[in-house]
Amino acid sequence: MRAAVYEGPGNVRVEDVPDPALVLDTDAIVAVTDAAIGGSDLWAYRGYGQRPPGARIGHEFLGLVTEVGADVRTVRPGDRVLAPFMWSCGVCDYCRGGLTSSCLDGGTFSEVGHDGGQGEAVRVPHADGTLVVLPPADAVPATRLLPLSDVMATGHHAALSAGVDHETTVAIIGDGAVGLCAVLAARRLGARRIIAVGHHAERLHLAVDFGASDIVQGSGEETLEKVMSLTGGVDAVCECVGAQAAFDDAFAMTRDGGRVGYVGVPHLVEGIDLSKIFARNIGIRGGMAPARAYLPALLDAVIDGQLDPSAVLDLTLGLEELADGYAMMDDRLALKAHITI
Ligand SMILES: [Zn+2]
Repeated sequence: MRAAVYEGPGNVRVEDVPDPALVLDTDAIVAVTDAAIGGSDLWAYRGYGQRPPGARIGHEFLGLVTEVGADVRTVRPGDRVLAPFMWSCGVCDYCRGGLTSSCLDGGTFSEVGHDGGQGEAVRVPHADGTLVVLPPADAVPATRLLPLSDVMATGHHAALSAGVDHETTVAIIGDGAVGLCAVLAARRLGARRIIAVGHHAERLHLAVDFGASDIVQGSGEETLEKVMSLTGGVDAVCECVGAQAAFDDAFAMTRDGGRVGYVGVPHLVEGIDLSKIFARNIGIRGGMAPARAYLPALLDAVIDGQLDPSAVLDLTLGLEELADGYAMMDDRLALKAHITI
């Protein structure tokens, strides 16, 4: 089959790779119909991280089940399914407790030895614990569902970690796909006021479409001052960048007793100065989203028409054009690429 292979910084190619096959009785094989390029793929493309040349890439996909192992009970060949970015067993203490990202037998698609989402097919370990069955394509288009595999679940995790409810004034730092999805999540949770903070006018306009009540464009002191002048300090911040400046701004714009929910994968973060937040009782929660645990509720919201993250996918390409998607996202000419297969 054809699949994306990471060959080094700036070099992701679609190549011939072995067809996936069932290995364990709990596996399923999924023929991918739609995949996406995500922020962490882009970090790998830029040369950050430990991905060796020759490794597969991509962890956001949906498709049709073609084959299941003898012990698989919840999906059948022909089912249209979505996978979160990690597989998880569904039965260990962490999975049952809703922290599927800490599954004792879990893993991330495209890790060494496993298929990535950007290819024609994927072996899915722990199919029962991992996959969710979707409505048919003519009922709900892939573009509304694909973001649930990662960015929408992560935005939801940011808002939950920040304790967003109907009384909350929340600032969302970051106008990438995760930040924009955090705006959607905060709106869905009923936030009283949502301030989207970012660099790009076009993306901040999308934040308004998604439910932001205010937008603040810029960086550093300037944006901090704007948020403070609008609010006097917010109840909650969703940190969706993962950089030192974003953390510093998050703590500075949170009012005493407020909460920071962080979901940006930390890159070049030197540390958090606890002495600056100790006396102010600012809470910190977040981390890697347990996407699988959130999928049933988010899927229901999409099916009911209450949630539509499809606008984060602003570029559609075929699998053989995948390298263009990486290059365009790297040049910030596209927010998030949808790959049709
Ligand atoms: Zn588990």
